[in-house]
Amino acid sequence: MLRPVRVVGGGLAGSEAAWQVARRGVPVVLHEMRPAHSTDVHKTGKFAELVCSNSFRSDDATASAVGLLHAEMRLLGSLVMGTADAHKLPAGSALAVDREGFAAAITAAIEAEPLIEVRREEVLAPPADWDSVIIATGPLTSPALAETIRARTGEDALAFFDAIAPIVHRDSIDFEIAWFQSRYDKAGPAGSGADYINCPLTRAQYAAFVDALLSGEKTVFHDFEVATPYFDGCLPIEVMAERGRETLRHGPMKPFGLTDPRRPGEKPYAVVQLRQDNKLGTLFNIVGFQTKLKHGEQVRIFRTIPGLASAEFARLGGLHRNTFLNSPKLLDETLRLKAMPRLRFAGQITGCEGYVESAAIGLLAGRFAAAERLGEALSLPPPTTAHGALLGHITGGHMETIDSGGRSFQPMNVNFGLFPPLSAGAARNARKGALCARALADLGAWTAATVRHAAE
Ligand SMILES: Cc1cc2nc3c(=O)[nH]c(=O)nc-3n(C[C@H](O)[C@H](O)[C@H](O)COP(=O)(O)OP(=O)(O)OC[C@H]3O[C@@H](n4cnc5c(N)ncnc54)[C@H](O)[C@@H]3O)c2cc1C
Repeated sequence: MLRPVRVVGGGLAGSEAAWQVARRGVPVVLHEMRPAHSTDVHKTGKFAELVCSNSFRSDDATASAVGLLHAEMRLLGSLVMGTADAHKLPAGSALAVDREGFAAAITAAIEAEPLIEVRREEVLAPPADWDSVIIATGPLTSPALAETIRARTGEDALAFFDAIAPIVHRDSIDFEIAWFQSRYDKAGPAGSGADYINCPLTRAQYAAFVDALLSGEKTVFHDFEVATPYFDGCLPIEVMAERGRETLRHGPMKPFGLTDPRRPGEKPYAVVQLRQDNKLGTLFNIVGFQTKLKHGEQVRIFRTIPGLASAEFARLGGLHRNTFLNSPKLLDETLRLKAMPRLRFAGQITGCEGYVESAAIGLLAGRFAAAERLGEALSLPPPTTAHGALLGHITGGHMETIDSGGRSFQPMNVNFGLFPPLSAGAARNARKGALCARALADLGAWTAATVRHAAE
């Protein structure tokens, strides 16, 4: 009899992970602390409870990265996607679900699966004799377990809040206006001296931008987030603007040491800088622009920045209560803690964002844990697939550093900027279709090869 894989947390990721392990004939013990202990946002004891919206976002597998992820999950036998399809509601091109029916069906499927034993208990620390553990305790991991994880990973390894600056697709930036240059052309430890994208503002443009920030609509914190600390270096941009009209010009929008080589005589009044965010060089984050502005307001206001008029955002800014690891540093490519490989992580705690992404990472963690238990070779999804792109973001695609500036790994939804670009330059919309087609073909080849390996 095989020893069980332990899964901690029966949310989107943990439910999917447990299901995937059991589907491969490996026993699972699923530990979920609800209903006896709950989080600040869960309301029931059901597995895979949706804590807020009931939408899985776009279901279009020809033009949307999350729609592609749906399609891949269906092909990989996902419990979460199968159940979402069975409980879908009319929502245009999005996949919305009846949240009660969805969570009830996931709970029934898990409870009826003979290889899954459910234990309703909080795990404070995984005991030493649990030799294969998937921790999928989500953005609101219980404080005791969070403390255990922090003690095992280090002070800076686990964040309790995210502070997210918007990320822009590089190919949507207007380089007739913007230019590459590091401040004073300094190269830094891993840079070239021309690492940042710079967007110049005149005095009038800066004044209008500050006005827009001050009057823009902001989101409010949830009750359980009101103690969110505005830690140093992570002050929302609109809060900086409130402190004085020139504050930003002396902070993230400093113009010093930056001159457009095509217009050497023009000194910008302020400069917005964007810094490379992924190793592929397809995504750039707006430096120091973490914000609580509403998403629609961010798009409207940030597109007034010269050079960003047509910006496409891979991620918009935010500040939330969230528990997540510095995964690129701590996890290996199969999501195991390098320092303690019996612990594997899945879901939002790894630094993905969203119901679907969390379930997808749970799916991969479950498959990896099962293959390991069965003594099979572990095979990673190709980086050209949505699963591979997301896994790459978590375990290695993020830029470590190009200079001495602050840089940290922040959670992200799946998006096309995480995929290796196509070689030939095609129009943006056609490119999305081609990326989707390539992903589905590569996923098919990967699953066929994985099945062949398992049978050998
Ligand atoms: C307020 C809020 C609103 C959100 N809104 C959305 C949204 O609208 N759309 C979206 O896509 N995403 C949203 N998210 C993100 C969402 O939480 C994640 O996308 C998703 O639920 C994460 O899945 P997960 O499995 O990693 O964590 P969860 O689904 O949170 O599951 C974690 C599970 O672990 C359990 N647990 C925690 N600690 C322990 C322990 N020590 N022992 C045993 N069990 C434990 C919890 O009870 C929970 O069941 C929101 C998050 C928050 C906090």
